[in-house]
Amino acid sequence: MTRAPGDIYDLFVIGGGINGAAIACAAADRGLGVALADARDFAEGTSSRSSKLIHGGLRYLETYDFRLVRHALLEREILMARTPHLVWPIRLVLPHVPALRPRWLIRLGLFLYDHLARRKTLPASRMVRLAGHEFGAPLKPEYRFAFAYSDCRGDDARLVIANLLGAQARGASILPRRRVTGARRTGEVWQIELADAQTGETSTVAARALVNAAGPWVAQVAHTLEGAATGRRPRLVRGSHIVVPRLWEGEHGYFLQTTDNRTMEMFPYENGFTSIGTTDTPWEQPPEEIAVSEAEVSYMLEQVNRYLRNPVRPEDIVWRYAGVRPLFEVGGGRDSDLSTLTRDYSFEIGGGRDAAPVLTVFGGKLTTHRRMAEDALARLAVVFPMPEPAHPADAPLPGGEFGPAGLAGFEAGMARRHAWLPAGLRTRLARLYGTRMEILLESVTSLSGLGRCFGADLYQREVDFLIRTEWARTAEDILWRRTKLGLWLSPGQALELAEYIAGRGGA
Ligand SMILES: Cc1cc2nc3c(=O)[nH]c(=O)nc-3n(C[C@H](O)[C@H](O)[C@H](O)COP(=O)(O)OP(=O)(O)OC[C@H]3O[C@@H](n4cnc5c(N)ncnc54)[C@H](O)[C@@H]3O)c2cc1C
Repeated sequence: MTRAPGDIYDLFVIGGGINGAAIACAAADRGLGVALADARDFAEGTSSRSSKLIHGGLRYLETYDFRLVRHALLEREILMARTPHLVWPIRLVLPHVPALRPRWLIRLGLFLYDHLARRKTLPASRMVRLAGHEFGAPLKPEYRFAFAYSDCRGDDARLVIANLLGAQARGASILPRRRVTGARRTGEVWQIELADAQTGETSTVAARALVNAAGPWVAQVAHTLEGAATGRRPRLVRGSHIVVPRLWEGEHGYFLQTTDNRTMEMFPYENGFTSIGTTDTPWEQPPEEIAVSEAEVSYMLEQVNRYLRNPVRPEDIVWRYAGVRPLFEVGGGRDSDLSTLTRDYSFEIGGGRDAAPVLTVFGGKLTTHRRMAEDALARLAVVFPMPEPAHPADAPLPGGEFGPAGLAGFEAGMARRHAWLPAGLRTRLARLYGTRMEILLESVTSLSGLGRCFGADLYQREVDFLIRTEWARTAEDILWRRTKLGLWLSPGQALELAEYIAGRGGA
């Protein structure tokens, strides 16, 4: 299906979080003419604020969400092939607390977790005696046994960018900082109104089908789209994280049972830190006002300090962030327990053969974004001609084309070709940009060729690359979403970066 003169897109996607980006990528792969707009920076909503687990969700077994767990488990291996620089395996350690859950129940849960979906590379779970084991090192000695099992971690904000780059490489138009203010149908075509977030300038774009993937804003956006209003209301639930200097050696993480029958996780984070989260608190205010509360910080510290040999203190916290989950009822009343609301995705479809269709996406997880996108297009196919995908599910997105040598082989090649590049910077660039690192370093032959250093190992060359190729417009886009170098730069250095970007005159 080709685009007609006058730029009528086949599909217009509202929202550049992981769900919108994945749908745009999958639709462009089918040869559709696609455009995607986000009101703010890509991933600035929920998709840079997750726990960054690519996981089946061990705790959803307790709510019998087997379908979600099985689908999510299957996605782990697919995403490791598709974005090998952005998704990696992690061993998670679950210390046994006899008073909270019996050993047989955990064994049963992990047996299901190991066998609900085929694993090609991830090792199975096993029990570990903690005394003298590296898994026991940061824990109080009273924790004698633990269960170790496999999951994956990923870089949420960069997965969004990888999907957008994939969409763009297949011909999609990607429109940052363009808010959709409304859309109306003229027969079989949508007329979509956009407002530029920086200049306020308005424009209209035409498309044959519309996708509302506005995450926590989905119901609000639906009301501005003719005939797309939905009766479904999300329950917004805040989840917060804190980041502290690294608490243990090793690449494993911890999955901790809390005293209120929830779970929390601690992970190695950004090569020098540990992230701790998350909470589950109702949030009634607009999603963009979300912030971590002191009560949440106290709760998280209290829970993890029950396990840790050396307690974490409030003054250790170097960064905190909060996100909002839009959860939807699957039966049950308004008062149902937050932890029993499904994390799975669902759709509503409006319009059809005579009226331009609109697909609304509810909920979902970072883990299931690729599968959700396939399901979304299958739903649209009922009312809209849908070609077959050009690539298989596990075909790499831009940056992930390492071939059989994998990330390690690629990095070794980069070390040979760029012997001048410090090892830490080389690893960071390879992890963030994968094979696109070659574009970043094109014709650079020495450290001074990277230009001005803004602090830590952030050089002008990388900043320019992010502005030129990844839609970055502000220091915050670069420091907190394209990278996490905000953890290392001082406020003064961040200001200098902002001044450089302003002086450079944007993209
Ligand atoms: C605390 C927390 C922890 C989580 N941990 C995990 C985890 O470990 N693993 C996992 O798999 N999942 C996890 N999730 C879930 C996962 O983060 C979300 O499912 C996912 O990020 C949702 O993506 P989205 O695209 O639907 O929403 P968003 O990322 O919020 O994207 C919606 C986008 O729509 C844009 N938008 C809104 N209105 C408009 C408009 N009018 N015009 C244009 N654009 C608009 C917004 O700016 C936003 O960028 C977690 C969620 C939270 C909150």
